Order: sequence, then C-alpha cells, then structure tokens
Amino acid sequence: MQRTLIILKPDCVQRRLVGPILSRFESKGLTLVALKLVQASRAIAEQHYGEHRDRPFFGGLLDFITHGPVIVGVYEGPEAISVVRKMLGKTNGAESEPGTIRGDFSVSKQNNLVHGSDSPESATREIALWFRPEELVSHQLSGHEWVTG
Ligand code: UDP
Ligand code: MG
Repeated sequence: MQRTLIILKPDCVQRRLVGPILSRFESKGLTLVALKLVQASRAIAEQHYGEHRDRPFFGGLLDFITHGPVIVGVYEGPEAISVVRKMLGKTNGAESEPGTIRGDFSVSKQNNLVHGSDSPESATREIALWFRPEELVSHQLSGHEWVTG
C-alpha cells in the first residue's frame, strides 16, 4: 500500500469540479485517509513547490496556488502514487490525453486542476507538510477485498 498527496488547486475549486474529480479517485478504488479545505499561505506554497524555486514560472505559480482555497487530501492504495499521476495526465492540459483529468478538463500549463505527488519521497515530504499525523485516519473500507483483490 502506498499513500500520495493530492491538491485540488484553486481553479478546480472555483470551477466547481471538486465533486467530479474526487468521484474519479473514489471510483478508481483509492481510499481517502485525509481531506480538508485550506487557504494555502505563501510560505507553505513555497515549500510545497520548492523544487521549482529557480524556474521562471515560480512566482506566477505561487500567486495561482494561493489565489483561493484548495482541497488537500491523502489517498491510499496499491501503487497510489503512479495511479494518481496517470489519472492526472501530462502537466500541460493541452497536451494531456482525453480520459485523464487534465486531458478532460484543462487546456492550460498552469491551471491544470490537480497536484499529485511524483515519488515516494515527495509523497512523504508533502503529506508531512500539509497534515499533522493525527489528521491521517488509517482505516479499511468494508468490502475492500472486492477492490484490491
Ligand atoms: N507549471 C506552470 N508552468 C510551467 C510548468 C508548470 O505554471 O511551465 C505549474 C503547473 O501548475 C504544474 C506545477 O507548476 O502542475 C508544477 O510543475 P511540475 O512540472 O512539477 O508539474 P506536475 O508535476 O504538476 O505535472
Ligand atoms: Mg511535479
């Protein structure tokens, strides 16, 4: 089992796509371990996207991600990190395959709706950045064996 962090970015919240997007992850068979609505501070956004500090889009990205509330969540499941990344599609919505979240709902490089951790190391770091340990609820859904086999 793996855990991964997702962020439904401000464009997702403003476009009222929270329900349809959480529904995709739920239908896929991922299990929610944590979920909350937060207004991200510039400080947490800078830490979250620290790897991009020297990129030309960094300032704009921080403006974007702090522009309104986001939904932050943790999902658990087999290969959860790569499963979510595949469901997101490519970074640029205009280049993402139809059927992916970005491919179906975005034509933008920046406003691409959802973040997903890209590696086990990133997932560990990002989950600890956004959640206190007691906010993570370990549990098993009844009938889970029908989903994970
Ligand atoms: N981004 C941007 N301009 C770019 C590349 C990325 O605004 O040229 C934004 C976009 O919102 C993206 C985020 O920065 O999701 C992080 O970039 P990364 O390359 O890590 O993409 P991701 O891992 O989200 O697919
Ligand atoms: Mg990335």
